[in-house]
Amino acid sequence: MSGRRVLITAGASGIGLGLAKRFAAEGDQLAICDADGDAIAQVKAGHPDFIAHHADVTDEAQMDAFLAQVEDVWGGVDVVCANAGIGGPAGRIEDLDYGAWRDCVGVNLFGAFLTCRWAARVMRAQKSGLIILTSSTAGLFGYPLRSPYAAAKWGIVGLTKTLAMELGGANVRVNCICPGAVEGDRMERVLANESAATGTPIEDLRAAYVDCTSLKSWVSVDDLADMALFLASPAASKVSGQILAVDGHTESIN
Ligand code: NAD
Repeated sequence: MSGRRVLITAGASGIGLGLAKRFAAEGDQLAICDADGDAIAQVKAGHPDFIAHHADVTDEAQMDAFLAQVEDVWGGVDVVCANAGIGGPAGRIEDLDYGAWRDCVGVNLFGAFLTCRWAARVMRAQKSGLIILTSSTAGLFGYPLRSPYAAAKWGIVGLTKTLAMELGGANVRVNCICPGAVEGDRMERVLANESAATGTPIEDLRAAYVDCTSLKSWVSVDDLADMALFLASPAASKVSGQILAVDGHTESIN
């Protein structure tokens, strides 16, 4: 039992829940938040040992309540995964709605702020910790028709580099994982949006997501959990400020 205290935002489904289950299987304690109250209730039912809180990462009052609860119960934190993000709208910038743009950048980038601010305060005081942010291959390439998502995910890369420099002297590591296309519900929604925006059949888009990678492969949630567990292990004790793609090596995005 490693017994690390691991906090994951957007942890009630998708990648966040997959990470939570893998850390829990290592014997770690878990605290998750999610904007979906029903999904949180389901996690609570299946994992009564998790701290599971209904909170939107962009809502300061909700996040303050969640983070205060975690601090009360644990008195500190070892690993924080700022994982929450939404796909946002698909379309040329001239056709995008400002509200949809703001929501996308808001969840993907502003949402990381409240989580990282709290993690930095707690970890600096305890002189240890690891923050893992989630960007995307969209944070490594230009991504036509997904401008708010790409802008936000490049922002996460900048935040990672900067926080690694601000916190390194306090023995806090900060890294970023860039998933490629991950099998699951979220990518099915992205494919449907992109197909509607371009008129390209979904199956052609699905094939294109694989064709642009060297390994010609989709990514699984377990592939991402493997990287997060490596980062949280002693083997990664000198790994900080890194932008780690888990994507089968994306060669280009069309
Ligand atoms: P998902 O769409 O499956 O959503 C997972 C959870 O996020 C849901 O339970 C949802 O309620 C929650 N959530 C959404 N907005 C929230 C908010 N404002 N506050 C709190 N919770 C919120 O997403 P996912 O596929 O698990 O993606 C997780 C992260 O990985 C995101 O940052 C995403 O951008 C990134 N990512 C995903 C993929 C992919 O292919 N799925 C690829 C690259 C990067």
